[in-house]
Amino acid sequence: MNTKRSEELFARAQQRIPGGVNSPVRAFRSVGGTPRFLRRGSGCRITDADGNTYVDYICSWGPLILGHAFPPVAEAVREALENGSSFGAPTEREVELAERICAAVPSVEMVRLVNSGTEATMSALRLARGFTGRTLTVKFEGCYHGHVDSLLVKAGSGVATLGISGTAGVPEEFARTTIALPYNSVEALEAAFQRHGGEIAAVIVEPVVGNMGCVLPQPGFLEAMRELCTRHGALLIFDEVMTGFRLSLGGAQQIYGIRPDLTTLGKIIGGGLPIAAYGGRADVMRHVAPSGGVYQAGTLSGNPCAVAAGIAMLKHLAEHSGVYERAAAAAEAVCAAAPAGVTVQRAGSMFTFFFTDRSVNSWEDAATCDTQRYAAFFHHLLENGVYFPPSQFEAAFVSAAHDDAAVEQTVAAIRSFRS
Ligand SMILES: *Cc1c(COP(=O)(O)O)cnc(C)c1O
Repeated sequence: MNTKRSEELFARAQQRIPGGVNSPVRAFRSVGGTPRFLRRGSGCRITDADGNTYVDYICSWGPLILGHAFPPVAEAVREALENGSSFGAPTEREVELAERICAAVPSVEMVRLVNSGTEATMSALRLARGFTGRTLTVKFEGCYHGHVDSLLVKAGSGVATLGISGTAGVPEEFARTTIALPYNSVEALEAAFQRHGGEIAAVIVEPVVGNMGCVLPQPGFLEAMRELCTRHGALLIFDEVMTGFRLSLGGAQQIYGIRPDLTTLGKIIGGGLPIAAYGGRADVMRHVAPSGGVYQAGTLSGNPCAVAAGIAMLKHLAEHSGVYERAAAAAEAVCAAAPAGVTVQRAGSMFTFFFTDRSVNSWEDAATCDTQRYAAFFHHLLENGVYFPPSQFEAAFVSAAHDDAAVEQTVAAIRSFRS
């Protein structure tokens, strides 16, 4: 496979962009080799600067559940752009997107649009503190909630991939406001509430984790979390930036039947453009400025192009429930081909091949993976035109555009892996 152009671009990029990339996991640091500079995407396939084509299992890390350049989304953006790309004033479409989100996500009664998942979790946390008058946050090891200072403690995604502490540059005072607990441990959660109950503003969780690879909540874990938060007056924040509109139209909360107080959304709701949101109980959301005293703002928030993309996306998903079955069936077919000795974990259309023989229920389990063998597997697939996540600790994403030919190519590539 010729990668000359990507190599040249990466050399140039490293002169002017830290590590040559604008987000760490893109750099292939944990798997080695040259990141592919991408030129175009269509459906489930992407093409790099050297003209190599791959079946894409990143799908922009989640947003593209309908595949690249999905025509109704592309058309909506084109139309919005021609009418002015930003106003800094309200538009009718923002109201429509807010209504669509509230209609789909069971616990969301009011919603505020922001520009990234990080902004959504940061704002939700501030709101929880403002509402409760408390300071502490509980999070879980291996969960990633964006690069918010206090939430980088024991974080997943790139923080886990690069094995960095996650707190360089974060004042110790901020880090001390976070209690990090093992995912799936009800006992640890009970103990934390016993010790700090009256000081905990919020518990934030990925209800199904994608950011240490795909890890599912064990029966009773989310239920206990809901009960403890209610009992101690803490808000429960479901970070559904990844799982929202991915696991179902109503996200993980719909599947597990749990009603969080606040929910953060991102990725899919922008259809591949930068948009995210936080929302939830109306009595809590009314504390956000200008109706309340918790300040949060944004020059480009509710950007017309991003909102148009989001509406086109959510409209298609609401009208085509078959998208979820189709994407999950393709994911299931790929998972069935996993090599021996690998633990496969899947939730709908997101999955991870963990190179460990134990089932992965927490970061402690995930950390037992053979990341070198994963790297070899990743490069084998890449050479065979299949683009998996360049890190053991990320989920792979399947779209409704992953057709039979793509799945067959993937299965053949996986089956020819010799470790
Ligand atoms: C991607 C992600 C974020 C961060 O979103 P950005 O748009 O990258 O800032 C937060 N939480 C979860 C669960 C995510 O998957």
